Amino acid sequence: MKKIILSIIIFLSFLHSAEVKELPWPKGESFLSFLEEYSIPQKLYFNLEKEDKELCSEIVADKRFYLYTEENGDFNQVLIPVSEDIQIHIYKESDGTFKFQTLPINYKEYTETVAIPVTVSVSHDIQKATGDVTLALQLKSLFKGVVDFRKMQKGDFVALKYTKRSLLGRSHGLPELTAAMVEIRGKKHYRIKNDKDDKYYDEKGRGFTKTYFFKIPLTYKRISSKFTKKRWHPVLKRYRAHLGTDFAAPRGRKIYAAGDGKIEFKGRRGGYGNTIIINHQNGYKTLYAHQNGFRKGLKRGSRVKKGQHIGYVGNTGLSSGPHLHLGLYKNGRAVDALKVIRRPKTTGLSAKRKTTFLANAKKVTQKFKSEIKSENRTKATRLDRLTYKSKVKKI
Ligand SMILES: [Zn+2]
Repeated sequence: MKKIILSIIIFLSFLHSAEVKELPWPKGESFLSFLEEYSIPQKLYFNLEKEDKELCSEIVADKRFYLYTEENGDFNQVLIPVSEDIQIHIYKESDGTFKFQTLPINYKEYTETVAIPVTVSVSHDIQKATGDVTLALQLKSLFKGVVDFRKMQKGDFVALKYTKRSLLGRSHGLPELTAAMVEIRGKKHYRIKNDKDDKYYDEKGRGFTKTYFFKIPLTYKRISSKFTKKRWHPVLKRYRAHLGTDFAAPRGRKIYAAGDGKIEFKGRRGGYGNTIIINHQNGYKTLYAHQNGFRKGLKRGSRVKKGQHIGYVGNTGLSSGPHLHLGLYKNGRAVDALKVIRRPKTTGLSAKRKTTFLANAKKVTQKFKSEIKSENRTKATRLDRLTYKSKVKKI
């Protein structure tokens, strides 16, 4: 482990030199074509375990990565982020061989609370106060069917509490709302996230998520690989990550949409082979990889219903046998599909959980209320910025 830490320290010291380049991942570049470009043997990739191969398919175009080349232009090492938590590190050893490893990303996470008076429109005002475009969308989806945001007027108010991540002084990934208040004509509506089950409730602990809206998209033989976000493997002495769930099933078995949505991507995607991505409501996306083929007539932009046939299990891309790799993303972050799908249908909190939730909710609502008193009503205020909290665990 010391060696890994040392190599990161050495790498970070390179970051301050002029020879490190921060580059956007080129459109159409695959992991293999990247290796070819820098004369790195392709076997580096082919010798990887299945999960690591799949991680290489998570690299997205335009994502910034760090490349260090020697003075003569030879490759030395590279750090490529594949999620908010994990990055691929390829480096050249002194004997000229190349090594691959996955490393955690040392980002900072902090919480902000902002109170915003409505002046133009909710979306505009939130973006102006926070610099982010997605918070307003998250807010709207939390109050769907309860608040008509188009009817909000001057004098109405929103207050948001959210977590944000930053890396090397820049924002990292999308923020996530943890509590929100909408005041419309003096009436206050709340949504507060309960960390224990990842669901939102009102200030009295009433749940409103009527049903979970995903289902397992096929009949499968067994789960051959579970979701792991970032796990230190004590025996292999390295990080493991698998940003999806693998369902082993015979080639040709039908795959169905896990939920209602719109086809966002249909085609080949690196080591994922034939892939479909569906954009659902509430910031969710699902990804179906290694398909043998797609259902005829399905196009980008097509609307699909939960349970609608979309494709067939296969072995395309780099896969060790026919299986479906199912990825689930919430606001751009990979989450465990099985946890979301198997979440109990009940919307209420148990008595014990409710007590804890209500204690937290009270703090949040009091803070919101105290900060929208008359003196703060004219200008968006950033109320607090809690202390920085590093997400990297000591090993
Ligand atoms: Zn997989």
